[in-house]
Amino acid sequence: MADKITTIAAHAGTPGGDNAPLTTPIVQSTTYRFASASQLVDYNERGFASGLFLYSRDENPTVRAAERALADLEGGERALLFSSGMGAMSAALLTLLSSGDEAICSTALYGGTWRLLRDLLGRFGVNMRSVPPEGLAAGCARGGAKVCVFESPTNPTLRVADIEAVAKACRAAGIVSLLDSTFATPLLQRPLGLGVDLVMHSTSKYLNGHSDHLGGALVGSAALIERIWPVQVALGAIMDPAQAYDLIRGMKTLAVRVERQCTSALRIARWLAERPGVDRVFYPGLPSHPDHELARRQMSAAGGMVTFSVGTRERAFRFYDRLRVIARAASLGGVESLCSLPILTSHVGYSADELRAAGVDEGMARLSIGLEDAGDLIADLDRSLQD
Ligand code: PLP
Repeated sequence: MADKITTIAAHAGTPGGDNAPLTTPIVQSTTYRFASASQLVDYNERGFASGLFLYSRDENPTVRAAERALADLEGGERALLFSSGMGAMSAALLTLLSSGDEAICSTALYGGTWRLLRDLLGRFGVNMRSVPPEGLAAGCARGGAKVCVFESPTNPTLRVADIEAVAKACRAAGIVSLLDSTFATPLLQRPLGLGVDLVMHSTSKYLNGHSDHLGGALVGSAALIERIWPVQVALGAIMDPAQAYDLIRGMKTLAVRVERQCTSALRIARWLAERPGVDRVFYPGLPSHPDHELARRQMSAAGGMVTFSVGTRERAFRFYDRLRVIARAASLGGVESLCSLPILTSHVGYSADELRAAGVDEGMARLSIGLEDAGDLIADLDRSLQD
């Protein structure tokens, strides 16, 4: 799989022929010439499937090249790229839901997705039913919902959903399953092969991998993606071509980055589990994690994110303020290690009940492990955890 990833990304949209550029050209043009009226008629009639370009809010060659590469990596027929992960999630939900519909979602969900469902779609009459990750398959089997939105691994507790079981229950109940696979990347799990209808990524994270790109993606069947495309166009949420180039470049190194991040994360999680003063460590690669066996079955490695709790808000703040190597910053999946306090970032604005349901406590810190030497990271954690 790792070799395949590098090859697919390396060949994304590169022109053929002697003396051709090695990397994908960035097409900045907003508009495209047509050879004739009949070619424009062809575009209007076949749209997406025509392979033609009209206007870069609708489609762009660099963006299409990145979409093809990502669709191949995920094993999907088609992909669409957006200006952010939230742009992708918004377009998917606005396509699949109407006023009066119900969306079932996991209680452990990225805060932005949670707020989109609760605050924005709620205003337009969409009902949200939230279920703990382990109850998702049973919740979906009850039916009644149009979409099931879930993540695996989840943010920030790194719970692992049984993707195949949820997808199967959704299919039986006529619910579209939509999985945010940002934390796993196509390297660690392949949700479409487990029966999921639509995979979403914030490409701002591991897929680009350098904390210098904002983007989002949806991957699925051609039929489903073609339903979402007009909504993307209406919202004006397509990815910029320069960002698509950064994504292609990032995907070329995905395998080497993620393999190293997984190795360091496991070492750090094991070290934290032994460190006095650390109350709990959340890492699916540890046998103590409630979903360890499921993660072993479903994922090729446990990922580069490690969460732990030092018990209280005061201790978490003190630890956070002392970090020197690990940056105090939101987001994840880049080459630099980052630490965030979920109550101040991804889960800001949650009520106490919502925090409890999401499994988030005030003493929690979430680490995104980068490419630094793991020993240096452990030394930084050790010093910052001192009483
Ligand atoms: N999904 C997950 C799991 C995330 O962590 C994030 C961002 O932090 C998003 C979605 C939203 O993506 P973006 O910031 O690219 O809009």
